[in-house]
Amino acid sequence: MYPQLGGFLQDAFQQGILSISHRSEAFMTMAGEAIQLMKEKLEIPQDYTVMFVNSATESWEILPQSLLTGESLHVYSGSFGEKWYQYAHHIRPEAKAVVLEIDQELKPEELPVGEQTQMLCITQNETSNATQVRPEILQKLRSQYPNVLIAVDVTSSLAGIYLPIEAADYWYASVQKCFGLPAGLGIVICSPKAIARMKEIGEKGRYNSLSNIWENIQKTQTHITPNVLGIYLLKRVMEMVPSIRETDKRVKEQASYWYKELAGLKQFELLVQNEAVRSDTVIGVKGSKEDIATIKTKAKAHGILLGAGYGGLKESTFRIANFPALEAYELEQLHEFLKAY
Ligand SMILES: *Cc1c(COP(=O)(O)O)cnc(C)c1O
Repeated sequence: MYPQLGGFLQDAFQQGILSISHRSEAFMTMAGEAIQLMKEKLEIPQDYTVMFVNSATESWEILPQSLLTGESLHVYSGSFGEKWYQYAHHIRPEAKAVVLEIDQELKPEELPVGEQTQMLCITQNETSNATQVRPEILQKLRSQYPNVLIAVDVTSSLAGIYLPIEAADYWYASVQKCFGLPAGLGIVICSPKAIARMKEIGEKGRYNSLSNIWENIQKTQTHITPNVLGIYLLKRVMEMVPSIRETDKRVKEQASYWYKELAGLKQFELLVQNEAVRSDTVIGVKGSKEDIATIKTKAKAHGILLGAGYGGLKESTFRIANFPALEAYELEQLHEFLKAY
């Protein structure tokens, strides 16, 4: 969390934000400001639509439900990409998967994209195994397959690194990662092409049909009573943060610093060998079960919580969340700990 959140929470309480109706003018103004600030700070094109949902997980389902009538092609190397594929497959059995090795770079020209492929689904930052699909590759996908819609999971990278939003059609994230905010709010960003496709398909009737979410956001309202506090805090954080280009630079410098430092630890290895696919916002380290348990226990005694591994990598890795909200003193603390290890 950003340390400024304490003050923002106090402000929310004192200004009566916690009691406003989500159909009120006050809410519409606040939500509109949050969206506008996000567009400015994150370089989201003005003709894209920003919408509020409950989580990234919900966005996994909204996509096959409202934007597909047939095949989606999911390309992934880790657990989050796999879960997305499974939820999509449950709704649209035509969903297909291309599973990459952890160190394997996505090659746009090698994908089995065909006439029937309606959507390419990419997990840009795979939080579970600390890999990423570099933004340049998303741009290549766009030029290679101009007629296929592209959906991108940026749950653990949006607001952390610069992303070429114009290169894809359906982006989503949760705010508890790079936004430095408490959990309980998801963001979906759609291109004009995605909205046109939504209208063409005309799926309706569910509370979270994309058309219902979209119709409400036209009035700067939401389809459900939303996390009003979360939207308020998002607005305050977006006011406070610098441009995404600046954050991108800082996060990447910090990442290369951690990779260098961690590569020097004797008992451990970087989880991702191929530099081209290493994440900037999630740093993964692997070792024996015993060594991983030991470093986590020792770090804890120093007041540092090293992130556990995820899924099948739970015991054989630890992860560092290299998120923008980390402060200099926290980085220094970890640096001192690793130096002495
Ligand atoms: C955290 C995460 C999710 C799930 O986010 P929720 O807020 O729990 O829905 C999905 N995808 C990726 C890549 C994640 O890191």
